[in-house]
Amino acid sequence: MKRFLAVLFVLSLVMPFSNLKAQKIDGNQMKVGNIKKHSLEKLPYSMDALEPHISKATLEFHYGKHHQSYVDNLNKLIEGTEFENVKLEDIVLKSKGAIFNNAAQVWNHTFYWNGLTPKSSQKPMGKLKEAIDKEFGSFENFKAKFTAASTSLFGSGWAWLVKDKDGKLEIVQTSNAENPMRQGKTPILVCDVWEHAYYIDQKNKRAAYVEAFWNLVDWKRAEENYRR
Ligand code: MN
Repeated sequence: MKRFLAVLFVLSLVMPFSNLKAQKIDGNQMKVGNIKKHSLEKLPYSMDALEPHISKATLEFHYGKHHQSYVDNLNKLIEGTEFENVKLEDIVLKSKGAIFNNAAQVWNHTFYWNGLTPKSSQKPMGKLKEAIDKEFGSFENFKAKFTAASTSLFGSGWAWLVKDKDGKLEIVQTSNAENPMRQGKTPILVCDVWEHAYYIDQKNKRAAYVEAFWNLVDWKRAEENYRR
């Protein structure tokens, strides 16, 4: 009897961890057993939806290969560290080195994809439009400044429209994987200016990619980010 109870006791400890079926729990994190695994968030459109501005081939590599690699690397790197079972945004805010690079690249890319749409209104609306007019004088002025920030960034990185704690808009450039949330800023819109974002479609012509990018901006989503 004692032996039977001991076996039951051991089973009760093991059972909760034996269910390895993946279960979606939070944004792009999946639960596998007792470990939260990050996963590639599904695109809100089909792989060819951004054509002719961004090709299906670019999405297959940029989303299917590069973004997927950051997710896979992150899952490997956090194994057995304090960042296992931590929400992606918190890893971005608190980590450094390789874990930060991969976590931020996962976050930044998901934010970038979700900020694009094949049905762009082509210009901002509502409260965001008012704020852009107030800060930059006009949408055309803003667009020229954001374009300059995107094309002039040296090396790999991101151009962002962010707001600070007082709601003031600002255009910032970040290198490599860096993310403005780490300076207490809220991202509203981002342009990925790593070469892998445009090399297939535009070869070395970043300016042509940025021009194409403007056709795809989801201003409705940007407005939601601004109101957050
Ligand atoms: Mn990228």
